[in-house]
Amino acid sequence: MHIERILYDTHMHTPMCLHADGEPEEYAAAAYARGLKGIVITGHFPFPKNWNPLRMNEDQLPAYVARVGRARDAWRNRLDVRLGLECDYWPGLESWIGGQLARIPDLDYVLGSVHPIPRYIERFWTGDVLANQRLYFEHARMAAETGLFDTVAHLDMVKIMTRKNWDQTRLMDAIRQTLDRIAATRMAMEVSTAGLRTGMKELYPSTEILREAKARDIPLVLASDAHKPEHVAFKFEETLDLLQDVGYTHTAVCLNRKRHAVPIALARRSLRATASG
Ligand SMILES: [Zn+2]
Ligand SMILES: [Zn+2]
Repeated sequence: MHIERILYDTHMHTPMCLHADGEPEEYAAAAYARGLKGIVITGHFPFPKNWNPLRMNEDQLPAYVARVGRARDAWRNRLDVRLGLECDYWPGLESWIGGQLARIPDLDYVLGSVHPIPRYIERFWTGDVLANQRLYFEHARMAAETGLFDTVAHLDMVKIMTRKNWDQTRLMDAIRQTLDRIAATRMAMEVSTAGLRTGMKELYPSTEILREAKARDIPLVLASDAHKPEHVAFKFEETLDLLQDVGYTHTAVCLNRKRHAVPIALARRSLRATASG
């Protein structure tokens, strides 16, 4: 029986990010094999030179856009390849980020991310690990409230950097406040299977946070944060099942910076297993 492709993987990188392998065409091929309708390539948005060694520079942005465009053309009529960016949120740089984003034509999707990278830790963290964890969620909330992004990425990624001192129960009040504020912006949150590939083997965000998100009807955008083509649609089946368990009937995808709902039951059936799973 022919099953319609309806699902996208909305977060993946390219070699221009300097820490990912595989051309956009290869991610597209992996997505096609998994039964997806499309992908959004989300290279890290360039900050000023030397801001972070694992980002493209500003002058490379046109080459990035062209690289995604090449994959879009190569896969036309088979797989929908879209242009996105993953943008670090950095308190105080909101208007600069907004100005830069506005200059990029035909952008489909922008993730807002707080990354606990060394530069961030140096700038914002004090000695108190609980205070640092709470601040991370506050920054995620501030990212949502800028209105610059379509989705808040990997909401509880801070857990991986503070793994030894991670106790979600101590943070639930801060997390609930964060979710209240994100819900008020009416923007979406990402559910990322990348967490299932790392040491904690847990989604970003955790199941309990997803339950709290459902209680507030925060739309969720499904993604793998692929850094290799074989990561595309990583563990999407079990993640869709889990989203259904916590009460979601739809996920979401943002194209042309507009959000569309995707029925989970149909999405689940449209996925195809591959040899690598
Ligand atoms: Zn990220
Ligand atoms: Zn990423």
